[in-house]
Amino acid sequence: MRPISRVLLAESLLLASFRLSLSVYMLYNVNMLLGFKTELKINNKQRTHLLKHSGVARHAWNWGLALTKQILDHNKANPGSKIKFPSAIDLHKWLVALVKSENEWYYECSKSTPQQALMALRESWKRCFNKTAGVPKFKKKGRRDSFTLEGTVKILGNNKIQVPVIGVLKTYERLPQIKPKSVTISRQADRWFISFRFETKTQDLGNADVVGVDLGVKALATLSTGEVIIGAKSYKKYEAKLSRMQWLHRHKIIGSANWKKASVQVARLHRKIANIRSCTLHKLTTLLAKNHGTVVIEDLNVSGMMANHKMAKAIADMSLFEFRRQLTYKCELYGSKLVVVDRWFPSSKICSQCRTKKKSLSLQERVFKCEHCGFQCDRDLNAAVNLKNAASHAVSACGLVSADTTRMKQEDFSLLANVSKL
Ligand SMILES: [Zn+2]
Repeated sequence: MRPISRVLLAESLLLASFRLSLSVYMLYNVNMLLGFKTELKINNKQRTHLLKHSGVARHAWNWGLALTKQILDHNKANPGSKIKFPSAIDLHKWLVALVKSENEWYYECSKSTPQQALMALRESWKRCFNKTAGVPKFKKKGRRDSFTLEGTVKILGNNKIQVPVIGVLKTYERLPQIKPKSVTISRQADRWFISFRFETKTQDLGNADVVGVDLGVKALATLSTGEVIIGAKSYKKYEAKLSRMQWLHRHKIIGSANWKKASVQVARLHRKIANIRSCTLHKLTTLLAKNHGTVVIEDLNVSGMMANHKMAKAIADMSLFEFRRQLTYKCELYGSKLVVVDRWFPSSKICSQCRTKKKSLSLQERVFKCEHCGFQCDRDLNAAVNLKNAASHAVSACGLVSADTTRMKQEDFSLLANVSKL
């Protein structure tokens, strides 16, 4: 009797430990979709190919949009005899039957390009019907040119990628060694970019510390560790230069060679500003997510702050929404936790030493002085420490429950982001 029960016990223990390790594995190695975008190194022949494909994508989109708009108009005028709103597959069938035969140049491009353009159009209508976006717009030549290719996409070596019809494209940057299903090629000013999505496993870096982050106008971020990250005020820095370039552009004859040259210059400066901004943000969000176990931020009322015109420009320049988006996915990627503290939490009014709350604190007061215990410290640092404390208390008080609320808050945010776009 004895040996059997021992075996049974051993077995059940083994099973239990197996189950445990499996669930841990499930927790920490979740697949996650990441986007990758890099510049293409192209020759003239390839540029022609890319332009042709963007042309086909734009033509298919505009044709589909005109048709769907006609259908909507018809349905509005004749509620008795409504036409069914077409799916992406319907649209593509009609395109093949009606448009492709009349426009020979469609056959020079991959058949997946118009198909994907129509799928994007259908998605765009779906967002419009769900009231999360406006009515889709007609595309103009040279403005946000882009197209999607689906089919045999292969990454060859470190910086070559094979795509349907166009062939092998070179990149400046090393490509991740994965197998993308489709790629999107887009143009920004005079440069071409390739982007695709790929699945990756999340990591758990095992950090345990908590960091509070106070976002502000003066400095991009103040950490509870005392670090201060000055934002790249790229727009402010290049504002004068940009407005001068835009003025020059406006005062040229539309369509002339000089006008074209000026448009490229304006677009280049816009790209430079955007690059500086995105670089600072990426550095900051990676630093936070990779080096700390828990990152605590405040749920800032961005739309409320944007209503204040003086602050609006400064806030838009620091792209707080983008900060939150990046931090959310990077925390997931590096296995750290993002805690979003309620926007009504008075982080700047509380003394981080004795927790006495001040009745009022004006924006001009840059140094926090506590009347109760005499503590003095930089206003933003005091707020960052308060955020850190708020999260540590919440976690120790109710354990897992607070982790769930964190997740909920993150979802709330995505809703909020949609609302403010409208
Ligand atoms: Zn105090």
